[in-house]
Amino acid sequence: MRNSASCKLARLHSLLSFLTVAVLALPIAALGAQAPPAASDPTVLLLEKLSNAPGPPGAEEPVRAIMVAEMKPLAGSLRYDGLGSVIAQQGTAGPRIMIDAHMDELGGMVRRITPNGLLTMQMLGGWLDQALVDQRWTILGSKGPVHAVTGIRDIHVVPADERNRVYPRNGLTLDIGAFTAEQAAAMGIEPGDPVVPDSPFTVLNGSDNYLGKAWDDRVGCAVLIEAMQRTAHSAHPNQLFYVATTQEEIGLRGARTASQIVKPEIGIAIEGGITGDVYGGHPEETQEKLGAGPGIFLYDSSTLPNRKLVARVKQTAAASAIPVQFDLVQGYGDDSAEMQASNGGTPTVNLVVPVRYTHAHNGIMNRKDFDQMVTLVVDLVNGLDQKTVDALRDFTPPAAP
Ligand SMILES: [Zn+2]
Repeated sequence: MRNSASCKLARLHSLLSFLTVAVLALPIAALGAQAPPAASDPTVLLLEKLSNAPGPPGAEEPVRAIMVAEMKPLAGSLRYDGLGSVIAQQGTAGPRIMIDAHMDELGGMVRRITPNGLLTMQMLGGWLDQALVDQRWTILGSKGPVHAVTGIRDIHVVPADERNRVYPRNGLTLDIGAFTAEQAAAMGIEPGDPVVPDSPFTVLNGSDNYLGKAWDDRVGCAVLIEAMQRTAHSAHPNQLFYVATTQEEIGLRGARTASQIVKPEIGIAIEGGITGDVYGGHPEETQEKLGAGPGIFLYDSSTLPNRKLVARVKQTAAASAIPVQFDLVQGYGDDSAEMQASNGGTPTVNLVVPVRYTHAHNGIMNRKDFDQMVTLVVDLVNGLDQKTVDALRDFTPPAAP
């Protein structure tokens, strides 16, 4: 096989082969690798389990099973809304505080099986077309998981003037190794089957950075569980509703229905944040860096946070020596918008664990950011009581002097 770029490619290939051999010859210590975290680290295991679980919008069952198993022993009661959101309650008296993360992830749905056994796909959530080509996917078929790849056009036959083009999503197909529609059906595939990225969790080279899919918002789900573990034993005068919602990525739908049941007086969303520390950054929208602490959303296109609650988060973080970062992102919405618009209006804030490369097959989160977020959430809710909640909800102008 040859094409016009093949000579250059051949030279590059032999250089890469040499470098690979040279790097492999170095002792591991010379590369700066550290010992990987203990396989028994419960936080790593929790994050791994949540990241690997398939759960596109409307098909959150595997994630819900994990959340219920973790939350039920820590909750006084647990129930569901009619869209499958999980509502776990601690405490039965005091102000109603809702702490929210969503279970669903970016994904898709099988549209149609073509006569030659390929599948077309309806995307669910905000994907870039360039993120879709040449990726591995898992289809949740009726006979179990089916491996798939979105094919890529072959460079040998792509005209030179098309090589820099992004191939649009409507031309993409999922290849499952079937040659006919009958073979695809025999694998347990039919229209409507959920599709998710296939991207196994990895601790990145002994660092405290974790590579995986669906950090938006499985990192928030893990924060919910670890915060619940701590508030189960802390003396606070509040009713805490830990809520794992559904269908956030297609319009905050579970947050709306769960809020109708919880009727929160204060709402705290826990999300994946947007870092600005790669690809030149976007300083007008995010100043977040991976590993530099949890973030607070000051603006997004779905909601404005309550300013007194933002001030309280900042004070709480300062008292615990936790650095906080800020996001003001225009193309972003989150569950706090639905909590805010519920129960006659609710003070809310969206707190985020920074993530590189959200809404893609492979994202990176940082363990220190995660641990600090858990502490921040726990300190925040432990510091609330009827008096502070009343003050946050009070819009009476100060008396004239
Ligand atoms: Zn999200």
